[in-house]
Amino acid sequence: MPSLPKPVRRPWQPAPQKREYVQHAARSPEYSTARWQKARLAQLARKPCCEECERQGRATAATVADHIKPVRLGGDFWAPTNHQSLCRPCHQSKSASERGQQA
Ligand SMILES: [Zn+2]
Repeated sequence: MPSLPKPVRRPWQPAPQKREYVQHAARSPEYSTARWQKARLAQLARKPCCEECERQGRATAATVADHIKPVRLGGDFWAPTNHQSLCRPCHQSKSASERGQQA
């Protein structure tokens, strides 16, 4: 159906991203790579529920692929064994409790 005009694509402008993705991208350049998007989606596909909520007996859809051991504290960015699925509230409280930790 060629009748509808397609929205103009400007390849030099990045596509709009989800909010949590943008927050990640501000922290580490790896978060803006296609490789991480793939790893993130793979993690969420493998564990679609928030693992922290699961530990507390709740079933919550995960939206964030988190590093169990933070990368800046020596965690492996790409190792799937260092990834876990979290919902946004769990990710935020984990990030908040990690703030101030020293490597
Ligand atoms: Zn959660």
